[in-house]
Amino acid sequence: MVKIAVVGSASMDLVVTSSKRPGAGETVLGEAFKTVPGGKGANQAVAAARLGAIVSMIGCVGDDHYGKAILQNFKENNVRTDYVKPVTDMESGTAHIVLAEGDNSIVVVKGANDRVTPQYVEKALKVIRESDIVLIQQEIPEETVEYVSKICHDIRVPLLLNPAPARALSQTVIEKATYLTPNEHEASILFGGLKSEEALRRYPNKVFITVGNKGVRYHDGENEVLVPAYQVEAVDTTGAGDTFNAAFAVALAEGKSLRESLRFANRAASLSVMKFGAQGGMPTRAEVEESLE
Ligand code: ATP
Repeated sequence: MVKIAVVGSASMDLVVTSSKRPGAGETVLGEAFKTVPGGKGANQAVAAARLGAIVSMIGCVGDDHYGKAILQNFKENNVRTDYVKPVTDMESGTAHIVLAEGDNSIVVVKGANDRVTPQYVEKALKVIRESDIVLIQQEIPEETVEYVSKICHDIRVPLLLNPAPARALSQTVIEKATYLTPNEHEASILFGGLKSEEALRRYPNKVFITVGNKGVRYHDGENEVLVPAYQVEAVDTTGAGDTFNAAFAVALAEGKSLRESLRFANRAASLSVMKFGAQGGMPTRAEVEESLE
């Protein structure tokens, strides 16, 4: 089994369903409320564990009710939590989601995810060093992404950087990361004015732009390649990107070729969109393999 360290966010999504979205100063009665564990880091850790990797999460939660529930969810999904620290001076990260009038409005409070600092990650260097690949996203401080990209480069552990949510990255981070997986919007921010085909050509076998139900684009050094998505009945695409990244990391760590790894990632992500919820839809290894046959 391959070993993966995920440096990233862990949050609780607080989801209200309402027929009407309240305006400023207004109170409305909602229909339902539920809490769902989320955060890109946590989602990718859970997805990678379901796909059969030994996964260590490196993150922070608050010393509160949601923090305990987030830790419990990691345990239920076989994600190691030796480096998920409950911090006392911050609440757990939360996303406040209102589903109303056919659309969602979201307020994200980063909370303890802001405590995933370079100094904090340094304490987990052992687990990073022992990993076959490290997965990181951008719901944690920018300096941590810079630090992890430098460390992984120095100790020669491959780093898959999923640059989501979108923000500009220093050239150094782009150079030091082994793989970058923006969606189309993130790619446009990451590479500024550069056209996507030029960005792909500039970073062959390194930048992989996911294009939803079309699949994923990259440049193999000679040509631009589209690895097509699997055509499925999509009911909820939340978490498709997280499943894609986790599956890509697992396959790469197992030594599969780029093309094979992308096929595996597309397959896992396509299965995830056939069910509701981000983590709810993430497939097991057996489910992906059965559907690849
Ligand atoms: P999200 O933010 O919704 O999690 P994303 O914007 O990061 O996703 P996308 O490019 O939308 O990323 O999707 C990632 C991958 O998921 C795609 O490359 C593809 O493999 C798969 N995927 C997404 N949507 C679909 C779909 N409707 N049908 C099949 N596969 C899909």
